Amino acid sequence: MNVALMINLVYIASAVLFVFGLKMLSSPATARKGNMVSAIGMFLAVVITLINKEVIAYHWIVIGIAIGAVIGALAARLVAMTQMPEMVAIFNGFGGIASLLVGWGAYHAASQSDLFTMVTIVLSVLIGGVTFSGSLIAFGKLSEIINSKAVVFAGQKFLNGFIVLAILAAAVYFCINPGQSYNIFIGIMVAALILGVMAVIPIGGADMPVVISLLNSYSGLAACAAGFVIQNNILIVSGALVGASGIILTNIMCKAMNRSLANVLFSGFGSASAAKGKDGEQGEVKPITAEDAYLILEAAGSVVFVPGYGMAVAQAQHAVRELGELLEENGCEVKYAVHPVAGRMPGHMNVLLAEANVPYDQLVEMDDINPQLPLTDVCVVIGANDVVNPAAREDESSPIYGMPIINVDHARTVFVLKRSMASGFAGIQNPLFFKENTRMLFGDAKASITNLVAEFKG
Ligand code: NDP
Repeated sequence: MNVALMINLVYIASAVLFVFGLKMLSSPATARKGNMVSAIGMFLAVVITLINKEVIAYHWIVIGIAIGAVIGALAARLVAMTQMPEMVAIFNGFGGIASLLVGWGAYHAASQSDLFTMVTIVLSVLIGGVTFSGSLIAFGKLSEIINSKAVVFAGQKFLNGFIVLAILAAAVYFCINPGQSYNIFIGIMVAALILGVMAVIPIGGADMPVVISLLNSYSGLAACAAGFVIQNNILIVSGALVGASGIILTNIMCKAMNRSLANVLFSGFGSASAAKGKDGEQGEVKPITAEDAYLILEAAGSVVFVPGYGMAVAQAQHAVRELGELLEENGCEVKYAVHPVAGRMPGHMNVLLAEANVPYDQLVEMDDINPQLPLTDVCVVIGANDVVNPAAREDESSPIYGMPIINVDHARTVFVLKRSMASGFAGIQNPLFFKENTRMLFGDAKASITNLVAEFKG
């Protein structure tokens, strides 16, 4: 069989595996299998690409695979679950820089300078550059190497608009006169890197998850453009899939925060000037001990756990599952309510609960659990804060006003497990802590849950 035909047939098989893998990722029950199916697709695509006679340097590929495998294995072993968003951010950046380099290399290697080839090269460099520098800023903000607040200044939108127009004008000129405009090409690259920085600095606070997901989508588009540059079908298809799924996820997250994408990108939410809302003390908090909390849980007929970022910090998921099982043995109905932006990455809580073998059928999404909460005896909030903040419903001056939350305050009793009165990611006060039916169980979430487990075991 003709080699090119064989390569394309395997690419089609890989693309089909990617699509089925993605579909399986949409449910916790099939997500692991989906990951495996997609990985097999990628393995096939890589192996078949290596038999392409246009490969000119196998030794560089082997060196690249070796370095990449070491970095990947170390990252998988050493990066804590709480640092996942930073890791996703920097990996998006790697995707961006790879596309930029492919475009740059293709400019030098291009045997023909037709308009189509030049447009694909510019797109690869442009989207790759924005993704790379934007992802580095996102990484810096999430890991708090740089200030995680939104940076806004007068004339910012005007400046950004000017950079975009300058890039467009330069790109058009370059595509028409590619031979004589290498300096312009380099200028486009530098401007793309600046644009990435400028696009991400005005975003901060609780909007960062949306940016990560958007940059993920950009990294896919950059790969897709690189696929057109080197005319590789599977790169085009996989880039388009990443681009499309990233934008769908971005849309879902915007909806989960009741914001439009434009509002997330341009409103400067999380900047010092944007943070408003009722701050300061809002009444008295009522602390509770593990012993007293046990007595209430022991008598409860229905309990809903609401995990948040603090559960990831405390690594309390295994203890939570154990407490859930003890409650069930005690005749109580147990559910886990998962907010779409709880934690620090999409699906963060699902991953932790799956790791602890919490049955999938006990996981309930926000929209489904909220109507059940008025009939729930106890809600146990484990290190969640912003995603259960009633100010989003009640305080029009709050920066998170309008964001859908899990209405834990509608339950008969709420236990909030956290270490102090500190605010969550959005940096705002939470009136839940002062409500009549709320009891604060202070301490590390794992220690508190372990104490409750010990009480149950007598
Ligand atoms: P929050 O960040 O709002 O609150 C987490 C709470 O956990 C804190 O108030 C903290 O209080 C508590 N905590 C921390 N460590 C521990 C511990 N060891 N034991 C007990 N409690 C602990 O988390 P949520 O999950 O409610 O909300 C997620 C926020 O992150 C949202 O604002 C979301 O927009 C944002 N975000 C989400 C991303 C995503 O994709 N899911 C990505 C990036 C940001 P204390 O210090 O007092 O213990």
